[in-house]
Amino acid sequence: MLIPVLIAASWYALPGALVTALAAGILMAYMPQDAALGSVQTTYNYWLRIAFYLLLGGLAGWLFHLRRRSFATHRSIARTDHLSGLANQVALDEDLEQCLSSSSRATGTTAVIQVKVTDMADVIEALGLRAADELVVEMSQRLARSVRKGSSLYRLGPDELALVVTDIERKDLDAITRRLVEVGEESVLIHQVPVRVQLAMGTAISEGNSKTATELLRQARTALMAAVRQRRDHAHFSPTFDQSTLASLKLIARVRDGLAAREFELHYQPKICLADGRVTGCEGLIRWRGDGDSLIPPGAFMPKVEQTSLIGPISYFVVQAAGAFSLHTGSEDTIAINLSVHNLHDEQIHDLLRQLIEQNGVRPDRLEVEITEHALIGDLEEARSAIQRIRDLGIGVSLDDFGTGYASFEYLQHLPLTGLKIDRAFVTQLEGNEPARRLMACMIDVGHALGLEVTAEGVETREQADILRQLGCDLAQGFLYTPALPDSEYQGWCRRHAEALGHS
Ligand code: C2E
Ligand code: CA
Ligand code: CA
Repeated sequence: MLIPVLIAASWYALPGALVTALAAGILMAYMPQDAALGSVQTTYNYWLRIAFYLLLGGLAGWLFHLRRRSFATHRSIARTDHLSGLANQVALDEDLEQCLSSSSRATGTTAVIQVKVTDMADVIEALGLRAADELVVEMSQRLARSVRKGSSLYRLGPDELALVVTDIERKDLDAITRRLVEVGEESVLIHQVPVRVQLAMGTAISEGNSKTATELLRQARTALMAAVRQRRDHAHFSPTFDQSTLASLKLIARVRDGLAAREFELHYQPKICLADGRVTGCEGLIRWRGDGDSLIPPGAFMPKVEQTSLIGPISYFVVQAAGAFSLHTGSEDTIAINLSVHNLHDEQIHDLLRQLIEQNGVRPDRLEVEITEHALIGDLEEARSAIQRIRDLGIGVSLDDFGTGYASFEYLQHLPLTGLKIDRAFVTQLEGNEPARRLMACMIDVGHALGLEVTAEGVETREQADILRQLGCDLAQGFLYTPALPDSEYQGWCRRHAEALGHS
């Protein structure tokens, strides 16, 4: 009789154990006191047995109750993000697994929306970690309010949340993410400071239980990464994301080998003086001669390379190639190279540039560095001193892609720049577009007011070049003249261009 009492205690804890113990005690009344003699129990013995069983059942039930409570506490701790009190990644994995494997979900859909606060680092830097937690809690409450009941919310990291929504159509998922972005980006008062964050979302959906929890989460994360990379607020998973990620991973893995195998080349695009049509210099643009004869453009690998330590070796190659080019062409023309923001603080780049000038005899006034406007985000003083160090070598520094980033007049005024390159986006709109012309005129005037040499990028038509000349732009660069050419072809092109000018 003890066994059923213990089983009941383990299944139903205290109440189940007491009821079973009582039932067992009553049943025991019918048992003889001595099985061999068949003597009936005394009343005293009968009550004693009941009391004994109740005591035992009670004790076992209480112990099992304690065990269960401690298990539940541990489980709840394991499933909770302690800082925000929200469910965490463990909970998400378990719940999603359960949701997708339950037979009732065989026909419905399950969607995962992964949310990232893309500028959380700024909030942490400005207001501290505690503020970031408060922000996430506040935001999660808002997000939870704007999706329907039954959706579950999880915190996956300091700046990441995930939502699981069931029985949802693909088009409704888009509508939900749009609403979530709107709601999530409304400003929140944290430590008396109104904070407005930027969100990116990645979504993936499973029809029935066609995908495992791991696969669905991986797809939502891949979509989120694509949204972040493309600076979009939302991306829905597509199998092409996997292919392009794989292709870019493979490409990056080969960069180091490519450098050792001398597969990189610098090609040169001339800069033309708009006033007289002469070539004044060129910009060196990197190319990768991959398998066979195909040329891989920088857009396919540089954005990724710039996020890794590989940007160092790649830029050392660029500096050396540009130095060699400058020495063997021997003309007065300048050669500009593109440096990434990470290069600005790299001692080795400075050493290489200094070496080119002091040991190899490259004239510093024939070198130029182009830095994109995006590289200047952050500390103005730091950007100023990094640029000044390049200027101290006697090398000019131009601000690239001007108009597309965040450079304010304050930046322009305080940075020791020598040139401004107006982005192609403004040049393409010039023809037959008076407002675009006026904007271009303003940008050229701003450059001149600051004493900078102004170059227009991506000039493709004669009409664009004529407008730019009338507006007083100094230099032009673009397919109208020629795309970037390998060293050998560049020299020939310059000769032919000079001859054509002489004849005209
Ligand atoms: P960027 O510095 O703005 O370079 C100008 C880009 O515009 C080049 O693309 C050039 O080939 C292209 N371009 C020039 N004229 C025209 C035109 O008339 N029409 C059109 N549609 N495009 C024109 P590319 O060579 O593919 O380089 C893309 C970007 O890759 C560069 O933009 C630069 O940001 C980066 N990059 C290239 N070489 C290097 C490098 O050596 N180091 C670093 N850090 N970045 C580089
Ligand atoms: Ca450039
Ligand atoms: Ca540019």
